[in-house]
Amino acid sequence: MNNRAFLPARNKRRRFNTGHTNNSRGGGRKFSGTYIDPAKFINKAIMGAEQVNPEILHRFSDFAFSPELQGNITARKYETPTPIQDGAIAPALEGKDVIGLANTGTGKTAAFILPIIERLHAAGGRGSALIIAPTRELATQINDEFNAFAKGLRLYSALCVGGTSMYRQISALQRRPQLIIGTPGRLKDLNQQGVLKLAATHTLVLDEADRMLDMGFINDIRHLIQQLPEQRQTLFFSATTTPQIDRLTWEFLKDPVTVSVRQGNTSQNVEQNVIHASSKEEKIQILSEMLQKPEFEKVLVFGETKYGVQKLADKLDQQGIRAQAIHGNKSQPQRQRALDAFKGSRVRVLVATDVAARGLDINNVSHVINFDTPNTYDDYIHRIGRTGRAGNKGHALTFVSR
Ligand code: AMP
Repeated sequence: MNNRAFLPARNKRRRFNTGHTNNSRGGGRKFSGTYIDPAKFINKAIMGAEQVNPEILHRFSDFAFSPELQGNITARKYETPTPIQDGAIAPALEGKDVIGLANTGTGKTAAFILPIIERLHAAGGRGSALIIAPTRELATQINDEFNAFAKGLRLYSALCVGGTSMYRQISALQRRPQLIIGTPGRLKDLNQQGVLKLAATHTLVLDEADRMLDMGFINDIRHLIQQLPEQRQTLFFSATTTPQIDRLTWEFLKDPVTVSVRQGNTSQNVEQNVIHASSKEEKIQILSEMLQKPEFEKVLVFGETKYGVQKLADKLDQQGIRAQAIHGNKSQPQRQRALDAFKGSRVRVLVATDVAARGLDINNVSHVINFDTPNTYDDYIHRIGRTGRAGNKGHALTFVSR
């Protein structure tokens, strides 16, 4: 990237930091949340690294899937399992508990959805599975994947997320679907109303467990797990391991097989850099200058608050840069519309909070811009993981104080 391209002529002092940091200007300042050394936001992309994977042991045809499911996998053009699929599918098919340590974008959805479909299909549609995910969008994506892979198998799902009509979810549950996918709060509500019965649900997936804990869902999750039979299969996915995560797996899983595919703690094929700015106005000015450049094809901008995110999107829109916002103050249909417009490239810029963007699978994001510094380094890694997917080079830029 040519850093000079972003230097407005009238302000020569404004510049990217291209090398090491922790200099006297910004080094000692506190951002909201934990202080993160800006040097951590600067990394060169190492292209090709993610493609070197000598350890894929299976092909999809090696797994004990029914011909119908194999057909659906082929129809989706999945040829080779990703590392998490390679490691997790076989033990999950055998009914073992699995801890999958994997970031978003590693193919973890198929790693749990394919064994679940196979086992439900083999049981003639009897039994059921529950998938708990942190956000509505992620739950919706999992449901979409399920529908694609379960085509023609007479397996049905109910999507139970907040922000949408409970009435439809109740009637979906009354049709006794084999798969229930939802967010913790809504699932708990439905359970307490007596509509979601879990006594015969023998498979549980906790997706992005670390984020669910961060979001304060632990009590809702506990409530749900307590309704499940003791004898069950639990598949547990998390991008990070913390003592709290360890305690949870120890408490809820039995003899788990652990599959870890985390590659260090940076996305290797994302070119990461910082932009110095001394005020919000300056940040907005630099941002809108950047967004007018053609190489900023599909840009995800992260902000800290719901209000700030909406305001920034409105401001960009006023300046003629088509932008949408996605945050918790929007209704579910509004969030979905914004997401679809971005996914379908009808708008080039999506401004989002961490929570709203968690786990989203969006192709070809050219740049992630951290308008507000993330609260933790983990959040940073999650944010920048939205770009540089599928072997493409990504770019991440983080505004830091001058
Ligand atoms: P996930 O981490 O589950 O959100 O998956 C990230 C993206 O990779 C999604 O668009 C998946 O459809 C895609 N994907 C996952 N596994 C494979 C595979 N084995 N082959 C091709 N695409 C895949």
